[in-house]
Amino acid sequence: MTRPLPPSLASIASCISGYDPAALPVAQARAFIDQLVPRVRAAEMLPLRSALGRVLASDVVSHLNVPAHDNSAMDGYAFAGRDLAADADTVLQVAGSGLAGTPFTGQAGPGQCVRIMTGAVMPDGLDTVIPQEFTRLDGDRIVIPAGAVRAGDNRRLAGEDLAVGDAALAAGRILRPADIGMLASLGRAEVPVLRRLRVAFFSTGNELRSIGEPLDEGCVYDSNRYTLYCMLQRLGVDVIDLGVVRDDPQALAEAFSTAAANADAVITSGGVSVGEADHTKTVMAQLGDVLFWRIAMRPGRPMAIGRIHAEHGDAILFGLPGNPVAVMVTFYALVRDALLAMAGATQQPLPLLRCAATRPIRKKPGRTEYQRAIVSPAPDGGWQVDITGSQGSGILRSMSQANGLMVLHHDQGDVAAGQLVDVLPFEGLI
Ligand code: AMP
Ligand code: MG
Repeated sequence: MTRPLPPSLASIASCISGYDPAALPVAQARAFIDQLVPRVRAAEMLPLRSALGRVLASDVVSHLNVPAHDNSAMDGYAFAGRDLAADADTVLQVAGSGLAGTPFTGQAGPGQCVRIMTGAVMPDGLDTVIPQEFTRLDGDRIVIPAGAVRAGDNRRLAGEDLAVGDAALAAGRILRPADIGMLASLGRAEVPVLRRLRVAFFSTGNELRSIGEPLDEGCVYDSNRYTLYCMLQRLGVDVIDLGVVRDDPQALAEAFSTAAANADAVITSGGVSVGEADHTKTVMAQLGDVLFWRIAMRPGRPMAIGRIHAEHGDAILFGLPGNPVAVMVTFYALVRDALLAMAGATQQPLPLLRCAATRPIRKKPGRTEYQRAIVSPAPDGGWQVDITGSQGSGILRSMSQANGLMVLHHDQGDVAAGQLVDVLPFEGLI
């Protein structure tokens, strides 16, 4: 079977109206990347518990009714609803009992009831349960006060959770605890998931030192290696860490080749800004089909995107800026969803919180700004948001202090104090 050739970068660009690589709105960059990236197809079977966080490879259709039988939702007495007296107390005789796992096997006749526990199968012909706390026991009889219950109450129906033939889970779902539990309720011991996405990454820049090396004059420790590693780890991909690569064409070419041969995607940090003196951009352009963008966003801006060629197929390149905050923000704004798409996951947009700004914020229309933000409960209800002091793109502490990113959209202007703004909370961001 031959696969259709992936679209060329030029053909993707031609689909984007007003495409301008020197001032690309975030939404257009996202749309471009979504068309560029291929999707993983290979699947494997995993024991249920190991599948947490993995992407479901095929639809799961229920072959069982869950629950399998009508059963009681309460501890109490089961009886036939038609035995309820119209406007008076109902008196019923207790004919036996049924427990979860040990059903009542006799036959309850008119005027009789069965002592029943939560989860016990409803005895034949009985359709209603009165919780024990609403009844009075009088010898071997119970008294149900008038109006305490209606016919059909407190009974769970067979198949009300999942009926035979129901679509339980769709392919592309990232399996969460409830999904794993639901698969268990269907009796599935194994589940087909897509293979993990493989992502290689490295840092570039001659000023970078690795932990353990002395910090020479004018140098900084490579922090991007750690933030990228951790962000990728949270995403559930296989991570290939290639460390710091020297600013040397040969070393860079080797790193790109290793990365592209072993991974679906390659992420680099540093070396893609306009004024860059190093070799990163040249080597990227030599080894693949790469575009150098300036994105209308802050922080961020420079980014390389494209394909790096390898013998057994291309790897997608995400060349991120070097500044530590810009790396994280571009990762969340542009890379995260692309990697999830590559991993085969179907996605909902990330939920944004609407919060009242505690102070006025200057914002130029024509770019998306991601301010590091602290969200807290507002004194009179709802949520409020402030920014974390200095917003410089080298100030990693602003990310560490923040619990979310205030997203000031492309067309948005200045924000007044009290105005509602969108915030992307970090909690739950995989
Ligand atoms: P660049 O994008 O290469 O021009 O780098 C922009 C800024 O980010 C410079 O101040 C770099 O020193 C800094 N930087 C680049 N890569 C890293 C890294 N891996 N860890 C920490 N800082 C970095
Ligand atoms: Mg650099």
